[in-house]
Parts: sequence; structure tokens; C-alpha cells
Amino acid sequence: MYKINYDNSEFINEFQNLVVDYFNKENRLNKIESTFKKLFGKSYTICYSVGTNFYDTAIYKFDQLINIAEQFNNKFLYEFDGEFYFDFRHIKRLSKVHKKFSPSELKKYNRKKERLRALFPYSSLQPMIAKLFRKYKNELKLSTCFYCNIDYINSFNSYSEYKDIVDFFNNASRDELITMFGDKKINIDNIKNSFFSSESDIVKNTYNLGKEGLKKLKNDLYLHTHDHFTLDHFIDKGTFPILALSLYNLVPSCYTCNSKLKKEKNLIKNNSSLLSPTDDNFDFDSHVKFKMFMEHDRKYINTEQKISQINSEKDFIIKLTEKSYSAYGEFIRCFKLEGRYQFHKKTALDLIDKRKSYPDKHIYDMVKVLSTSNDPIEEKKLFDMLKRDIYGKEVFDGEIKDVPLTKLKRDIAENIGIK
Ligand SMILES: [Zn+2]
Repeated sequence: MYKINYDNSEFINEFQNLVVDYFNKENRLNKIESTFKKLFGKSYTICYSVGTNFYDTAIYKFDQLINIAEQFNNKFLYEFDGEFYFDFRHIKRLSKVHKKFSPSELKKYNRKKERLRALFPYSSLQPMIAKLFRKYKNELKLSTCFYCNIDYINSFNSYSEYKDIVDFFNNASRDELITMFGDKKINIDNIKNSFFSSESDIVKNTYNLGKEGLKKLKNDLYLHTHDHFTLDHFIDKGTFPILALSLYNLVPSCYTCNSKLKKEKNLIKNNSSLLSPTDDNFDFDSHVKFKMFMEHDRKYINTEQKISQINSEKDFIIKLTEKSYSAYGEFIRCFKLEGRYQFHKKTALDLIDKRKSYPDKHIYDMVKVLSTSNDPIEEKKLFDMLKRDIYGKEVFDGEIKDVPLTKLKRDIAENIGIK
């Protein structure tokens, strides 16, 4: 919804050093090259220009990352049944012969994917990367989610009260367990009725979880309690592992935007670098506006008449409208922004109510009463001040990203003639 600015040279340097250090240790760089050759043959270099080190991509700008992703997609990926598989040509040939793949064959290609993913293990570096983001939290102006502007990204959530994973298993509420396990086949009743004394006790007594599942869960819990925000890979790291450790592919976001909605949706297919808040040209704010609509919109001649008909949240809807054709429609759909913002109609209604109680004329009357001089400049100042007091400072000043729902408030304020 708004751009994130990573152009702080110290932050960028520290990020790059972190990745370079990782690749330089234990001969990892050579390992990557040899694995790449094994997996993709000599043509593996196609994604990179000559002389590029794998870790250079750590600080590539977003449009460069898109180029790499497109090359990678064209050269190595093959979409089959909604999933992406590596080794494009081979699998394409097979698909012509068989029309269908056997499960074991598909497994083979998934193993390739796993091997490539293991070379760029975001989860190993994640604690250090998150720490770095926390260190530069003020410079990066981390406050509300860069995708939705609905939630703070640095707020604590309910999981923070648990000491560790064992404590969580023993004391989490049913709702928390459901949220954590989602649609995984974990028996929640079983957890609620058991007492766990250790981590191995959890693995032993929670069918379908397994050691790996526990590890992932611990990581999730850690994210929730210690980071207060999640870093989303805009270009999905599962499909494009080579971009898992690239700064400009990371967007600090709320838990809902990261985990529940986008998942592994492959936005790259739409060929729009414009859609990432890390792109230089990202400008959602000026291309898309919140607008208030009523059932019989055309019946009302002006804003005054229109808002006089609004008495409750049921009397209007909120829509995100694109000024002209723009790529942001996909962004709106992906993060389900329109639906999610319907829950915040109260905020818009609050502005509408105030607008009804304080037409500009009334504010001018107040100015006349309060003003000690007749100086028009002073009076205008007083008028502006009163408006800020009535509608809230964030409607007029500061950046959208500072406070949740600010874009909604500003757009609606414009829409109903407050500003
Ligand atoms: Zn969000």
C-alpha cells in the first residue's frame, strides 16, 4: 500500500555482509555452483549476467530481481497442475509422452526443488535478518503493515505470553491452537486433553506433527513472540529459491498479509514489478483511492445531500477505485483489501458523522468566536488547527505508514469534502 525505503547505506551494507559471510563459510559458494550445474546443466548461469556472484543478488534492486525471476521461470520452471516444477525441458517432454505424471515422478521433481531451496536457506538466516530489521526499525520507519495499513507490524500478539513451545501446548486456548495449526490434520482435542512435559513428549503424542513440524512450529512461535512482524518474500521463495535472500524481495508485513492471504501465490506471472512495495516506482497511494458509495448514488446531487442520508454502516460501502488502468487491481485482490476494509467502515462513519456535525461554516463561526485578531492569516491558522482537532491529525499530516487506517481516513476525508 505504500513504499518501503531501504536506501540506508549502513543497513544495506550490513545486510549484504550478513549474506556474504554466510556464503563464504564452509565453501558454500562452490557448493551452490556445483549443485546448480548438476540440477540444470551448464545453462544455469542464464539467470545472472557474467561475473555475478550469487550473493550480489542480496542487494539487487527489485526490478533486477524480477528479471532474474523471469529468466528462471522461462528457463527452468514448468507449471503442472498449479504447481511449479524444475527442469522445464525434460518435464515438458515427459508430459507430451505421458500426458500425466505418476506421483513418484512428481516426487522426484519436488526433491530437486528441495535441493535448490536448501542452498538458500532463509530460515537459517532469518533470526539474524530479523534482528537487523529491528536494529534499523526507526530508519526504515517500520510501523504499520506495508501491504495493508490495517495493523501495526511491531505490535505484540497473544502468543507472547507463552514461555516456550511446551508452555504453548499445555496452556494455549482452543482458538489459538486452531489459528496455529490451521487446516493441518492435528487433533486439537487431543492436545487440550493432554499434558506435555517436554518437546519429545509433544512429538510422541501429537499424531501427524513430527520433528520437522515441531521445528517449524517453534519457528512460527518465535516469529510471533520475538519479531512482532513477519518478513514476506514478495517473489515466493518456494518457487524462486534463488531470491530467498534478497533484501528487496523482503516486505515487513502483518501476519494476515504474509501467511493467510498471499501464501505462495505467484505474482511474478503478472509481470509487474510495480506491485512490490520495495520497487522504486511503487505508488499505490496516488493510483488507488478509497471511495464511499451508496446504493442510489446518482439520486444525490452533492456530498451534503449524500452524507445526510448516512446514519449507520449499513447505508454505504467502501470501495478501492483505480484512477485509470493500473496494475494495482491484482494487489487489491491478492491481499483481499476491499473485503478486509469493510470491517473498518466504522472509521469512515466516524468521519462522516463529524463532517455532518461540523460543516466548514460552523468551524468558521468558531474561529470568529475564538479569534483575538481579525488577521485573515491568523484566522486561517486557527481554522486549520480546529479541523485537525476535530478529524484527527493523521488525516492531514505525517506519513500514511505511521498509523493504521490512515489511507482510508485521508481518502474518505477527500471524498466527503473534509480536505
Ligand atoms: Zn497487512
